[in-house]
Amino acid sequence: MTLPEFTLLRPRNLPEAIDSLDRHRGDIQVIAGGTDLVPSLKQRLFAPRYLLDLKPIRDLRGIRNGHGLTIGAMTTVGAIADSPLVAEKFPVLAAAAAAIASPVLRTTGTLGGNLCLDTRCLWYNQSPFWRASCGFCLKKDGKVCHVAPGGEKCWAVFSGDTAPALLALGAEIEIASPRASRRLPLADFYTGDGMARIKLAGDEILTRVHLPESSAGLRGAYFKYRLRGSIDYPLAGVAVALDLAPDGTCRRGALAVTALNPKPQLIPGAEAALRGSRLSDDLLDRLAELTNRAIKPLSTSASTPDYRRHIARVFVRRAVRQAWQA
Ligand SMILES: Cc1cc2nc3c(=O)[nH]c(=O)nc-3n(C[C@H](O)[C@H](O)[C@H](O)COP(=O)(O)OP(=O)(O)OC[C@H]3O[C@@H](n4cnc5c(N)ncnc54)[C@H](O)[C@@H]3O)c2cc1C
Ligand code: SF4
Repeated sequence: MTLPEFTLLRPRNLPEAIDSLDRHRGDIQVIAGGTDLVPSLKQRLFAPRYLLDLKPIRDLRGIRNGHGLTIGAMTTVGAIADSPLVAEKFPVLAAAAAAIASPVLRTTGTLGGNLCLDTRCLWYNQSPFWRASCGFCLKKDGKVCHVAPGGEKCWAVFSGDTAPALLALGAEIEIASPRASRRLPLADFYTGDGMARIKLAGDEILTRVHLPESSAGLRGAYFKYRLRGSIDYPLAGVAVALDLAPDGTCRRGALAVTALNPKPQLIPGAEAALRGSRLSDDLLDRLAELTNRAIKPLSTSASTPDYRRHIARVFVRRAVRQAWQA
């Protein structure tokens, strides 16, 4: 499991980085903390001639408090998990960041890398030898999807923890490119296609995440299912953010999931179900049912689709109750 050969480019600033992406388009890949990319390079899922290291660009680091919160893409997920400011204003994000991987990986892995993660599948995140033994698959070098044979779509799952928390908070992202920088809701960033997972052109870099002031102080909870509690990617994750009136009625709320579909997503109908409601078993059943309809776990992961569907419904109930009673 050696690394392929590559040339490491270390730009001094963002314009230099964009210029490199533009010049080597098609043969270059961004590396942030490298915690996800380096194993993938060793598995020969990618073999770009150039790697563009974003670490020297200081401007992409840090958490800035202003109207809402702005977090640089190169901020480590550990810094987000440990930030008293994030914990106070956006507790669901602090909980999701603290649930990522292990302490060592959190000191290296970044928010940008977490949001731009490649989708994962049991048939894909393997050595070349392993993948060759079953004729590869649609996502890389093959012609068939082993998860849904006969179909043309890749169902590999998005398995990042911060995305559902940020979706529930109504976050926006900023993207830099040779043309201009653009800002879009995080909810519009993911495609739902396991192959081309995000709407990011080859010459673009995710630079910042913006959290709106209107979401500051929302109660939140994040629940995650993984096999090894000390380190693993999520096999199902549920995030909830709630704004409660003093009498306990929900003024506004959102529910989002990860690791159950090729994209992290808000649960359609959850916001309407929460608005004006009080905590009750009926409400929790309704939210669990809405989630059940929105997810499509398949045999892409190290747990059965049935169990992941079951645990998603359980987590919805637990997360909403915990956030409500926090
Ligand atoms: C054993 C193990 C366990 C893990 N467990 C978890 C887990 O529980 N939860 C979880 O969410 N993740 C997990 N991960 C994945 C990873 O550690 C984290 O998601 C981390 O935050 C990724 O950030 P990074 O900076 O290391 O990304 P990198 O590996 O550097 O990059 C990941 C991808 O994003 C792209 N990219 C990175 N930054 C940018 C940018 N600013 N603009 C455009 N593209 C960019 C890269 O080109 C690459 O395709 C785990 C990894 C390992 C090895
Ligand atoms: S879902 Fe299918 S095409 Fe996608 S990585 Fe898995 S086996 Fe390959």
